[in-house]
Amino acid sequence: HLDIEGVTKNFGHQQVLKGINLSVGRGATTAIVGPSGSGKTTLLRLIAGFERPDTGRILMDGREVAGETWVPAHKRNIGYVAQDGALFPHLSVGQNVAFGLDRDRFRGRKAVTERVVDLLDMVALDGSYLKRRPHELSGGQQQRIALARAMACEPDVMLLDEPFSALDAGLRVATRRAIGKVLHDAQVTTILVTHDQAEALSFADQVAVMRGGKLAQIGNPFVVYTRPADRATAEFLGDAV
Ligand code: ATP
Repeated sequence: HLDIEGVTKNFGHQQVLKGINLSVGRGATTAIVGPSGSGKTTLLRLIAGFERPDTGRILMDGREVAGETWVPAHKRNIGYVAQDGALFPHLSVGQNVAFGLDRDRFRGRKAVTERVVDLLDMVALDGSYLKRRPHELSGGQQQRIALARAMACEPDVMLLDEPFSALDAGLRVATRRAIGKVLHDAQVTTILVTHDQAEALSFADQVAVMRGGKLAQIGNPFVVYTRPADRATAEFLGDAV
């Protein structure tokens, strides 16, 4: 469970987040949509712990991670997958996925390989990929591996910043389905930033529309798209198709 309460963030004189309130239930997915520059990535970075909010607080399963207390990124149990996946180019697929494993629990080559193969299996790739390098793979395969790597640390919260947008239409749907199933089966609380209406509708339990550093509307995807709260939201959602 993730709670964001009254979060603000300034960069210099620019107020980028102007009081964000958002709750995402355990295992649920929220899609954040909104124009370029509205603050979507900044919000993800605050949840991840890469930046500190100026005011307000963030709680994970009731525990404050930002606010009066501060829990740094590496202690938050969060997965983050960006648009390009950002695999380590000099490491093999197996080494990339193994990167996030808890080495106290998975000791020795055999245990690590078994776990990595399980994680690849989750994203519908088999063990034949283990020794390959990222540059030999398609964009969709790289995104699946990025997700397997993010899942390796068994996150409570997964943050997806347009992870499918670089893929062609067919691959986008297949990759989205594979990743959606993995997150749903593992009951991971997920926030997805997307410009794609179909993606928000098929992937998310709730859609949050962000505009000018505020959440203009939050609700069931169908309701948000069929009954936008105001004209600007309607126009934006129309453009987003
Ligand atoms: P896009 O859809 O284009 O990715 P976004 O909604 O994710 O946009 P953000 O990346 O959160 O928007 O940026 C919001 C605003 O904050 C922008 O005006 C941006 O220039 C500014 N901003 C973001 N990060 C920083 C930073 N580290 N320093 C200064 N300004 C920043």
